[in-house]
Amino acid sequence: MLRYRVRSDSTGEIYEITAQATQAGIRFACTCAGAASGLHCKHRLRLAAGNTKGLVDGDDVAALQDLIRGSVIAAVIDEIDRLDAEAARMKAATADAKRRLARAMMG
Ligand SMILES: [Zn+2]
Repeated sequence: MLRYRVRSDSTGEIYEITAQATQAGIRFACTCAGAASGLHCKHRLRLAAGNTKGLVDGDDVAALQDLIRGSVIAAVIDEIDRLDAEAARMKAATADAKRRLARAMMG
């Protein structure tokens, strides 16, 4: 089992993150309130991406990335990244269209 400890950006509280292969996939857990509520959390997303911001100590982060590579977790994180990028492009395109509409309405 891989283990990490990270510090909360906002409260300074320490959370423990563990990752372990299971028969069904990978159990990738965090002790923060968000994870306890059944949500994904930025602590795990950061580590999965190799981002060590807030990392206090723990195993090699590259080992975590090796564990999740090719998994459903990695595939869905990639999907979210693609959707976030698409949403940003659409937001920019909408803002541009609104500017053009305002200009067009000036005659
Ligand atoms: Zn967390």
